[in-house]
This record gives sequence, structure tokens and C-alpha cells, in this order.
Amino acid sequence: MSAARLLPQRARTKIVATVGPACNTPEMLEQMMLAGVDVFRLNLAHGELTEHSRIVTTIREISERLKKPVAALADLSGPKIRLGTLVEDPIYCQEEQMFRFVRGDAASDPYELVCNYEPLIDEVKVGDDVMLADGTITMEVVEKTDDTLTCVVVAGGILRSRQGINLPGTKLGVETITPRDRDHVRWAAETDLDYVSLSFVREADDIRQLRDLLQAHESRAMVIAKIEKREALENLEEIVEVSNGVMVARGDLGVEIDVAEVAAAQKRIVKTCTRIGRPVIVATQMLDSMTKNSRPTRAEATDVANAILDGADACMLSQETAVGEHPVTVIKMMNRIMLATEKMLCDDLSQMHRPEEIGLVHPVTQAVVSGATRTADLLNAKLMVMATRTGGTALTKAKIRDCIPTIGVSDSKAALRRMCLYWGIIPIEGAPVHNGIQLRRFIDKWGADFGLLKPNDRVIFVTGGGIMQSAEYIVVVHKVEAPEGTGTSE
Ligand code: PGA
Ligand code: MN
Repeated sequence: MSAARLLPQRARTKIVATVGPACNTPEMLEQMMLAGVDVFRLNLAHGELTEHSRIVTTIREISERLKKPVAALADLSGPKIRLGTLVEDPIYCQEEQMFRFVRGDAASDPYELVCNYEPLIDEVKVGDDVMLADGTITMEVVEKTDDTLTCVVVAGGILRSRQGINLPGTKLGVETITPRDRDHVRWAAETDLDYVSLSFVREADDIRQLRDLLQAHESRAMVIAKIEKREALENLEEIVEVSNGVMVARGDLGVEIDVAEVAAAQKRIVKTCTRIGRPVIVATQMLDSMTKNSRPTRAEATDVANAILDGADACMLSQETAVGEHPVTVIKMMNRIMLATEKMLCDDLSQMHRPEEIGLVHPVTQAVVSGATRTADLLNAKLMVMATRTGGTALTKAKIRDCIPTIGVSDSKAALRRMCLYWGIIPIEGAPVHNGIQLRRFIDKWGADFGLLKPNDRVIFVTGGGIMQSAEYIVVVHKVEAPEGTGTSE
């Protein structure tokens, strides 16, 4: 396939798409990749590991063939509490009706509820809210004995077996990394996944434990904290600092905190990530109505745009691609909204969320990358190239946020895949990163093939410490050579 098919108008903001029954065939995955998916998310709350392995293998094969890096993210379900089987399924919970949580794993009448978290009855207090069916049903605990919790329905709705339970006011004793998550971490390490995200993170230590566990399995996967609990918002700074990336997990967050506060929380989380220099994904219900429809609502299209204006690096699709009727259409739609929004940002850079200074990035990296970006601006360079070993130089460039098209090259395929989440970075494979002259020729040709570069255009190269023999950073101002080879580097 010609390379030109692979770089249509692609947004700078990255697209994370969840794999599921609606899109798990090789044909669909390939179409999704061509439509703009940068990161595939495997939701480990569902499906068998053998099936997830098959999907990873397929994604890698397609990515090899298309010569387009794509990342895979394993999403650990964490301590998600779920209902067991209902005697009457579904059951309508009417306001003021009474339900009882009992111990064990089998309910004996329609008003008895059981769940997969044994200590629930011990940890929930009278007065606590029990939220069911994605927050549509609220029950309040009115009485507690050693073996039962009696709850009254405050807001009614339809309840089904195995739905999630949220306990916004309860301090749960549960470990954030469950035994099942541990098995999944081992699998993610063996499968060489690029990103591993953890649900229901409450404190920085949860992330440290996950990283230790990954390291024990010799994985260097990047760790993503899903912010979906009030406790995580309380410990936000520290959690962001120890993570490699963050997800604004609005699905559970909108049940765990007042839904009215979600927008403010999103802005605060994104801002924190901008300042500390971490990629941030805005997730859940972004184009929800496209699970069924072929077009989004105005509110949804605006939500994607606003996430970008907030400073999100990526937007995520969940059931829209996993079980929806239009997995490819929804990706194309998201890409279009992103392009339109980015055009506005790039026309007026003052609207962009740009950190004064990025925390936790090495001061040398930051100084060199921002100096090179400024140089590119002043010289009206058409392209920047970040040559990086781990991807850190590319991430720094992504967080600086300008609109000069930027390529990431590396001698590490893992680093190229990681860059799939970095805003505005186009990772390309096969570049001769160890030889400056060859690299410049490679980029000249690549740029010409895509119509991005013509002779005498300027390109700024930044080589991060670690790529060359020495630990030095190198910035090169290059002029694209005329085909006969008369151009020069300066
Ligand atoms: P989930 O996480 O889809 O795994 O629940 C995302 C969210 O809660 O928004
Ligand atoms: Mn969640």
C-alpha cells in the first residue's frame, strides 16, 4: 500500500478506541486504524485473555503491514464492585421500595441483592448512598445488621444482574489492585503492551504498586491512572506525578461525584497534567449517541471540541466502537471534529493551553525542546523532527503545544508506539536515527512523498540525549535539499 494513503488529514489530538465485539475482526481493526485510531484499548473487565491476545497480535500485524505505529492499552478493571444475579432480571426499582444486600452469592427473592465484594455489608454505613445502574438508581442505607443492609430507593430505575455498584460516600478497604488485576498485569507484561491503566485509583501508592508489579514482570509499560473517585481528586497532584499518563474516566466519576461537578473536575485534571507534563485522555460518552446513530448530537460534538480546548491529548471512544453500530464512522467523525477545533487553535495559538514550564521534565530537555520550537517558529520551519530513545523528548514537544507538524523517530519500536498518545507527534518507523545525514535525507524524502516539504523548506531536528553515543542534545536547522543535491544543512 502506498504511504500516501496513511496520512490523510489526521488530527493532532489522539484517538483511543475500545475494542469489543463490534470491531474485533482484522478487517474492522484495519479500517479503524486507517480512519485514525492511535491507541487501541482492551477493556479487561470483559472478555477472555486468549481473545485479547489474539486482538493484540492482529493489531501488531496490521500496524507492521501499514508501517504505522499504533499503541495498545490494557485497562485493568480494579476494584469494580458488581451486583450478582438478580432473581427477577431486570427489575424496576420504584422510589421508596426497600431492597436488602445479603451475604453470599445467591439472592433468594427479587428484593435481595448480592455482590462480588464480600465486605460490602461491613464497610457501608447507615446513611451512605448506594448507586446502581450507572448512577440512574440511588438507594440509601437505612438499616444495618451483621448480615444485611436495608436500603430504600431514592431515585428509581431499571436494575439488571451484574451491573456496577458505586459507593461514593464509603471508604472501601479493598485493595486497588485485585488478584484478577495481578493476573492481567502478568499478561500485559508478557504481551508487551504499551500502556496499562488502572481503574478506581485512590492514591499515588496504587500507581507505585502497579509499576512495581510491571517491573517485576520486566515490563516497561507506561502506567495510566484513571481518575474516577473523589479520593483520587483529593490526591490528584501526587497521582499525576507518579503516573505516565492520566484518564479522566467520566463514566464512574460522574457517579462517584455529583455529575454537576464533572466538567470542573475534567478541567482541573487536564490542567494538572498540562503543568506536570503528562498525557491526558478524556474518556466516556464523548460521542455516545453514535453507538446507535450515524451522527452525534451537537452537545457531543461540542464536548470533543471542548476537551481539546481544555488541553486534552487524546479523546476516547468506549461503547461507540466496542459494541456500537458505526465503529469506523464514529472515528472519522471524531477526527473531523478534532481537525476543525485544531484549525481554530492553530489560527490563534493564544487559545492553546501551554504550560509556562513543565514540571518533572528534565530541565535540559525542556530548555532544548522549547528553544528548538521557538527557532522553528522564527524560521517558519515546515517540520520538526524529534529523535528520541524513550519518547521523552517527543512528549516534551507535545506538551509545549504549537502547530508545527512534528515527527517522532526512534530506534525503539516501543517508544514509537508510546508516541501514539502524544499530542501532535506523528511517529514514523524505519528512520535511520543514528546517522544525522541519512536521517535528514530520509525526512526530506518522507516530507516530499507526503507533500509536506519542498526544496529549501526548513526542518528543525532535535536529537535527545541517549540517541547518539554521547548524552548531548543536538539541534540542527536543516534546509530541504533540491533533488540534485544542492541544499545544505546549517
Ligand atoms: P470504564 O472506565 O469504562 O472502564 O468504567 C472509564 C470510565 O469510568 O469513564
Ligand atoms: Mn470506570
